Amino acid sequence: MTRQTKIVATLGPATTTESALQAIVEAGVDVVRMNLSHGDHDEHRERARLLREAARNAGRVVGMLCDLQGPKIRIEQFARGSAELEEGAAFFLDPAFDGAAGTAEGVGVAYKGLPEDVNAGDILLLADGLVRLRVERIEGTRIHTRVETGGMLSDRKGINRLGGGLSVRALTDKDRNDIKLAAELEADYVAVSFPRDGADLDEARELLRGAGGHGGVVAKIERHEAVESLGEIMDAADAVMIARGDLAVEIGDAELPGVQKRIMRMARERDCVVITATQMMQSMVDSPMPTRAEVLDVANAVLDGTDAVMLSEETAVGQYPAETVAAMARVCVGAEAYADESRPTDVARRSPHFDRIDEAIAKTAITAANTLGVKAIAAMTESGATTMWMSRIGTDIPIYALSEQPRTRTKITLYRGVHPISFDPTMREHEAVNREAVEELTRRGVASGDDLVLITKGDLAGVRGGTNAMKVVRVNEIL
Ligand code: PGA
Ligand code: MN
Repeated sequence: MTRQTKIVATLGPATTTESALQAIVEAGVDVVRMNLSHGDHDEHRERARLLREAARNAGRVVGMLCDLQGPKIRIEQFARGSAELEEGAAFFLDPAFDGAAGTAEGVGVAYKGLPEDVNAGDILLLADGLVRLRVERIEGTRIHTRVETGGMLSDRKGINRLGGGLSVRALTDKDRNDIKLAAELEADYVAVSFPRDGADLDEARELLRGAGGHGGVVAKIERHEAVESLGEIMDAADAVMIARGDLAVEIGDAELPGVQKRIMRMARERDCVVITATQMMQSMVDSPMPTRAEVLDVANAVLDGTDAVMLSEETAVGQYPAETVAAMARVCVGAEAYADESRPTDVARRSPHFDRIDEAIAKTAITAANTLGVKAIAAMTESGATTMWMSRIGTDIPIYALSEQPRTRTKITLYRGVHPISFDPTMREHEAVNREAVEELTRRGVASGDDLVLITKGDLAGVRGGTNAMKVVRVNEIL
């Protein structure tokens, strides 16, 4: 069975060399994530080059996602690199304080606006929630807090406020510059960190287009505010990432499972693609085998309908990057075999009315394919939109995106159950095009004999949004 769920893997020191990249691509990575929080532009250029070489060598289509650092609020540095905070002790945060002189009494903060954004009684969570501070009062630029949960705090750790509400803008100057790099690298996706609303994504998209980039925009859901404006964010973005690391700190871990499920359901209804991210196989950073809980986490995301599952430290700094990808791929395939038990098979849409012919064809094609027991779907597509719509609806039937556009073939690497095929539909005759498409599927061993194949296409090749027809053919009757 071909795996439907896509795997996104973050590159890092563990996956810099040609052979390490080759190994994770061969193990099944569909999209790589370049984390722009680390490394300079030249490093990323070199990585992109090596990745494309590895994909070519492996004969696989691999997409690329550039993840912007965003306005993560961080403390500055300690005089000794770290400090041990004792429960009950006083501790201050102060943007005016010497950025290299932190002690167990207090530390500098990189974000000047923090004192205006917080109030007495607020809970600040540092280092992903390891250290918990309660704000007691603010004097000038200095935020005085009491340590509620102590621990070791080291240089440049992140700060979140429980409940969200820090006003910092999503796109920093560094992000604006990094968007130009994403355009230059021809990234298929750019991920915006800490967006608050749809406007943050519109802005990122404008900047990307302005820099000549064609990629889609991914909204990382990691702020409390983003959870409140999910609908608006999904309408503005091509995909959302359930960024569970920061999200859990902002909304509290008890809220996380419910919010994850809500995001997946809403994403399907709104034609948005969804990536489930962070700590999915965390123990494999230094163990060759996942825990049972991790296996269940990946499987549950698959059963709930995620398009993709993502690896972060596991492939960026872990000891077993290729083994982790292989384990994740295995667990996805295993879970997909049980997907009928929980998956919606209906046309999941917000509105029962279709405005677009191509969308109507795409979505009703799945109903036809599911009820007829079609073996494979061949969608001749210019932009890939037809296959995105198809993949919003539950089906086990593999969807092949037949496109002559290389960008479309790398973009659809994120869509669940959709597989790219390089195909030139500019042959005149419809009959010949259908036959070619079916031949392509038989060559891949996905259909044969009296199997049915469902084909969607438009009258004119090379026209975006031109899909206006669906045809069901029997393999041995057409060949
Ligand atoms: P990050 O985003 O890895 O860039 O922090 C993902 C998350 O917060 O879960
Ligand atoms: Mn994050």
